[in-house]
Amino acid sequence: MKHSILILGGTAEARKLAAELAGDPRFTTELSLAGRTRAPAEQPVPVRIGGFGGAEGLAAYLRDKGITILIDATHPYAAQISRNAAEAAKRADVPLIALRRSPWRRLQGDRWIEVASVREAVTALGKSPRKVFLTLGRQELLPFEAAPQHHYVIRSVDPVEPPLAVPHAIYLTERGPFAETDETRLLKEQGIEVIVAKNSGGPSSYGKIAGARALGIEVILARRPDLPDVPSVETVEEMLAWLDHVPAPLKERGE
Ligand code: NAP
Repeated sequence: MKHSILILGGTAEARKLAAELAGDPRFTTELSLAGRTRAPAEQPVPVRIGGFGGAEGLAAYLRDKGITILIDATHPYAAQISRNAAEAAKRADVPLIALRRSPWRRLQGDRWIEVASVREAVTALGKSPRKVFLTLGRQELLPFEAAPQHHYVIRSVDPVEPPLAVPHAIYLTERGPFAETDETRLLKEQGIEVIVAKNSGGPSSYGKIAGARALGIEVILARRPDLPDVPSVETVEEMLAWLDHVPAPLKERGE
């Protein structure tokens, strides 16, 4: 009997995990995306796109599709879907394991200010105009309209439309990973004084943090949200090791 895996994705790790599982005769694997980005990166396994309709909808999906393992490989700031996954796994009686990158830790030379939310980050920027680098999702940018005195450099995967109602903003539409040398060059070229970011963890967006340390630039980091307490691993390799030891399903589900 094969395991039927559903990966909740939207991260580089989810894609990497899917690539490892594609073609593995022990599993059939499907990847789920929220559908936020206009042209999602190509994926190595079949993909479904869009919300499930809360925990209840996800539980029904797990049952209907005969899913035998649910993997939550969503971004650490995507708290709602992780809560839904925990609830749905319980309701549908499907084992759940999360793939969660550990957060970046402060190193000597880091000038971090940790804040509870993006809104608090706006206040932490202060009243005097500064040159600010924003690396947040499009949905989280609106609070910065309350601080139009700053000059913003805003980087996102999709264009920010409509643009922010602030007089000084430059938009960069790019998808990571971002190398430290490129990030350092960008910070210098743009004369950035402060970065506002999430503590995403992992290597692909760490370049700006390392670059800021080298240049003595302040970083305002929005703290991670609380996530449900479920079994979890930190890397794709650990997830593969976990899957190596998972017993075969007793019977095909959903039949
Ligand atoms: P969220 O607030 O936790 O989720 C909001 C709703 O979006 C969920 O309730 C669910 O809708 C739907 N959803 C989220 N992820 C889904 C998935 N993988 N498959 C199907 N439906 C999903 O999430 P978010 O912060 O908006 O993030 C959306 C996606 O972008 C996530 O998959 C995440 O991995 C990725 N992402 C997020 C961030 C971030 O900083 N938040 C950064 C990089 C990538 P229903 O309730 O209708 O099922």
